[in-house]
Amino acid sequence: MHCGRPDGAGTSTSLPHPVAGRHLICPPVSRSPRDRRAASGSVGLVPTDSSTAPAAGPSAASSADHAPLPHRRLGRSGLALPAVSLGLWQNFGDADPRATQREIVLHAVDHGVTHLDLANNYGPPGGAAEESLGHLLARELRPVRDELVVTTKAGYRMGPGPYGEGGSRKYLLSSLDASLRRLGLDHVDIFYSHRFDPTTPLEETVGALATAVRSGRARYAGISSYSARRTWEALQVAEQVGVDLVVTQVSYSMLNRWVEEPDPHDPAGASVLDVAGAEGLGVVAFSPLAQGMLTDRYLHGVPDDSRAARGGPLRPAFLSDANLDHVRRLDDLARAHGRSLATTAILWAMRDERVTSVLLGASSTRQLDENLAALDAPPLSAEELAAVDALPADTGINIWASRSSDL
Ligand code: NDP
Repeated sequence: MHCGRPDGAGTSTSLPHPVAGRHLICPPVSRSPRDRRAASGSVGLVPTDSSTAPAAGPSAASSADHAPLPHRRLGRSGLALPAVSLGLWQNFGDADPRATQREIVLHAVDHGVTHLDLANNYGPPGGAAEESLGHLLARELRPVRDELVVTTKAGYRMGPGPYGEGGSRKYLLSSLDASLRRLGLDHVDIFYSHRFDPTTPLEETVGALATAVRSGRARYAGISSYSARRTWEALQVAEQVGVDLVVTQVSYSMLNRWVEEPDPHDPAGASVLDVAGAEGLGVVAFSPLAQGMLTDRYLHGVPDDSRAARGGPLRPAFLSDANLDHVRRLDDLARAHGRSLATTAILWAMRDERVTSVLLGASSTRQLDENLAALDAPPLSAEELAAVDALPADTGINIWASRSSDL
């Protein structure tokens, strides 16, 4: 559901979303990012580092054929995010071809994906994804930097020793400085505490986020994979230290619905989505495709070039007979309604008004195109929603629980 006028011109407008019936903000756009990159002379600029040189043109996008993506307001903040965002967690390491990385990022930006999500440790090795985007921000994306929301995080292990992970002030701020160096930026748009650290006072972790914002190194602050109780506590502390937490980034998909579940440790038994909705906190839903399980990727085995085959965070145990059976049933249902499983998974994750943006990964521009096309698809049927509700809410794929949201 693109919201630009056919002539590509116009002012800000707001359209009801076909899934949730909510109002989306569509930014005024006169020319595409590709046009503006071209106008500045940066399109097609061949980088000096030959490993970053493109095989072909910078991307397949053309100025005429793409309207802006719908954007949604991030909670009560003034910041809007695209309904679909791109994350650089996987496929942006040193071993992944730089030309492909470049193609995916530029394709996304040219198609209106204004939000690019990173963390200090994305790679491998940690830092590689930020360096890769840094190359693009120094060249092709330079003219459009202020049209992008670039986010990063710190919390999981990035370096050796006691200051290489966690929620301490020392780690968070040193890590942010290192991220800015790798990105070649003087600020990121959102800086996140990547995980809850039970060994550090929340006042210290949230205080470091406040410093990041006050010092200008981050425009906004957020948290990631915090339980409902910890989210509530973090919001209280944020008020005390005088910073607005504007977003929580959480895993959420048809196979992983923990954010809807009442938190047994929360005094009111609220869920993460309850707290976010009540407090005006934006929600960015990551891994909405369950790392690729909610696509056609694993319906007929494990392809050699897939995430599961690479031995990464998509663990073999996740592709159990029971889980694959769920996936096949969902795929049959999606096809019966004339769409792909990936489209169904994306529409499902964004059906809740409290979800601002679904944060996807991609290993090719083809995948990205299929995922963006979900925004043009009709809403999910009652039959599809019921089929998802019949699945277990926890299929054992939430690898972030034991390291953050269960703490
Ligand atoms: P997804 O659930 O979207 O999985 C992406 C993977 O699914 C792709 O790499 C690809 O796998 C496969 N895929 C995507 N589209 C298609 C398609 N149309 N058809 C077939 N396969 C497809 O998200 P991710 O797990 O990648 O996470 C997205 C982002 O979320 C991350 O990059 C990061 O920014 C953020 N994140 C945040 C975390 C946090 O702790 N805050 C933790 C994890 C992620 P393949 O590579 O096999 O082709």
